[in-house]
Amino acid sequence: MTGAGGGVRLPFTPESCPRCGEPVSGPPGTPCGRPECTVGAALDELRRRRRRRVLRGTERLRAEGIDPDAVTWSPTPYQPAPQIPVSDEHREELRARLETLVAAARAGGGEPEGASEPDEAEGRLPGPRFRGSGPVFAAACRACGGLCCREGLTRGAFLTVATLRRVRGDEGRGMDAGGLVDLYLAHLGPTHARSSCLFHGERGCRLPRELRSDTCNEWICTELKDLFLDTGGGDGVPPGHVFVAMSKDGRQVGGVARYEPPPEVSSRAKAASKAEDEAGKSTART
Ligand code: SF4
Ligand code: SF4
Ligand SMILES: [Zn+2]
Repeated sequence: MTGAGGGVRLPFTPESCPRCGEPVSGPPGTPCGRPECTVGAALDELRRRRRRRVLRGTERLRAEGIDPDAVTWSPTPYQPAPQIPVSDEHREELRARLETLVAAARAGGGEPEGASEPDEAEGRLPGPRFRGSGPVFAAACRACGGLCCREGLTRGAFLTVATLRRVRGDEGRGMDAGGLVDLYLAHLGPTHARSSCLFHGERGCRLPRELRSDTCNEWICTELKDLFLDTGGGDGVPPGHVFVAMSKDGRQVGGVARYEPPPEVSSRAKAASKAEDEAGKSTART
């Protein structure tokens, strides 16, 4: 765009660095090039995000009729994808993938290319291997809605030869290859979360836990890993703790879920096991 004098008009009028006040060109809030200003501006933005997250989370709790001063709460990731129909193309892709895996499982072969578990080094699904998706983490995943399940679309629900061997030796005992493939396809619903795994329904994963891949049963995101480490594996999370799903910048806020401890039973181990089973029936990643 040209100005009255024929010169090129800058897209933004000159601003000043928010840290040192030196003139800069760029959108408001852009720091000058000094390292101390760049770092300082980044820290300011982090503080702003944190404040926004606290504010928006508190508002969300109030909207649910929860007094934010009467509970402890923490954020989880957020996945706002709407449900869309499972397309014939996606269904057939999954069928073909399952047929390949089942054939390899029956032939005693290894993982076909592309069917391996996600590589942590790829940074796509960060998180530790984690066995212990107890009720605390079930509540967190329920609020989140399954952000990590997005990788499941292109990775065939993370199913592997190893998982199918396990299933064949259990629920799929005696099933032929077609039966095993049909067992999985029967759990597809009419819809799935957009850009996410085909089994990602409106209330979470449509696959029973025993049919899910080892990856789905064992991985958690970095947010839950931090929670796990900070709370002694979840033991430090008080009953009634509320999880609020929100984007990292706090601009989008989603589901809310409360951690309710399992009923007391004769032994802690028995209680933990029962809660895990219950959680597995109703939540996204748990
Ligand atoms: S592990 Fe749970 S909280 Fe983390 S992204 Fe997956 S569903 Fe969300
Ligand atoms: S937990 Fe379920 S919805 Fe999520 S990636 Fe695994 S199979 Fe898909
Ligand atoms: Zn500056």
